[in-house]
Amino acid sequence: MELAKRVQTLTPSSTLAITAKAKELKTEGHDVIGLGAGEPDFNTPDHIITAASNAMEEGLTKYTPSGGILDLKDAIVSKMKEDHNLSYSTDEVIVTTGAKHALFTLFQVLLNKGDEVIVPAPYWVSYPEQIKLAEGTPVIVKAKEENQFKITPAQLEESITKHTKAVIINSPSNPTGMIYSEDELRAIGEVCVKHDILVVSDEIYEKLIYSDDQHISMAQLSEALFNQTIIINGVSKSHSMTGWRIGYALGRAEIIKAMTNMASHSTSNPTSISQYAALAAYRGSNEEVDKMRQAFHKRLDALHSWLLEIPGVSCEKPKGAFYLFPNVLETARNCGFETVDDWVTALLEEEKVALVPGSGFGSPENVRLSYATSIEQLEEAAKRIKRFVENHQ
Ligand code: PLP
Repeated sequence: MELAKRVQTLTPSSTLAITAKAKELKTEGHDVIGLGAGEPDFNTPDHIITAASNAMEEGLTKYTPSGGILDLKDAIVSKMKEDHNLSYSTDEVIVTTGAKHALFTLFQVLLNKGDEVIVPAPYWVSYPEQIKLAEGTPVIVKAKEENQFKITPAQLEESITKHTKAVIINSPSNPTGMIYSEDELRAIGEVCVKHDILVVSDEIYEKLIYSDDQHISMAQLSEALFNQTIIINGVSKSHSMTGWRIGYALGRAEIIKAMTNMASHSTSNPTSISQYAALAAYRGSNEEVDKMRQAFHKRLDALHSWLLEIPGVSCEKPKGAFYLFPNVLETARNCGFETVDDWVTALLEEEKVALVPGSGFGSPENVRLSYATSIEQLEEAAKRIKRFVENHQ
């Protein structure tokens, strides 16, 4: 049977593919270290688990409004006021089944066939696929490594056509860990206002910043940008709640309303129990979130210094998220491999260390290492990578 055209060019997520391969080797009894994970390795904080358990016992296990329970929307509105001094009303919020589904639904309601969305590369793997599933066209703009993988206003302006509807800004970024400064965002925002294009601001890693830099949202920079920005966020990364599947979008009421209608015909609502858990996450203390951030910070410092000891590897230190994205093309070539993808495959086979090749993120010279694993595992992984490189020189 011929499947629909829209899925014929769909590529499976490269991050999930490497995780599957690593799991397979593990089941065969190999001592695999997986640095492919896109999720914190900590347990969800206890007070959140208790809230979910209470919700179940209280019978809060039924359908909820499609756009989420009012209490959670209120908590998100308060969070935006507190964190960014932004004033949203609850009809400008939708709670979704993870941030991924917020993005998916957004592109479905925004794009017509041929509408273009500018996607700075390196990009999170799902952006281009989700845009294509909405019959839109992803326009990939390669950010330069010497500019910390951030696009410039000039690059953005050159890529705008009469079909451009939006640009995605993901700061802190997966996979690079880089963050845009306020000035950089302002300059990019000016171009968006001038050309009347929307900013899809994916802020899922906002709580994971390891420098004095503040997380700035495009929406807080001006009235015009507030109106032209759709913020995407969620509790997956901040509260170690990836499996609970709670994300959200904030933006103009007409867009949020269309997304809510769409959700009413697809998911009906995000899981009721998870919504109560997310409510506890936002109403409760931030102590656990801070502890997790501190642990990530230590790991970043350690892994970054170990990586630089590997011959040929260059890597600017990221400021956020939980990934390093070193350029290993020279190292791979010196080891006798034509591509970084081949180098990654051989590393997994020989030393049982799983990394994600940068090709899936639109940057084939790099690899992504996640430090969402213990410091002991990170040290052992770094040792193995170094040994692998030395053995192949
Ligand atoms: N946006 C980025 C940049 C991500 O890295 C991820 C998850 O890996 C998501 C969105 C989706 O998050 P969620 O688990 O809430 O769907």
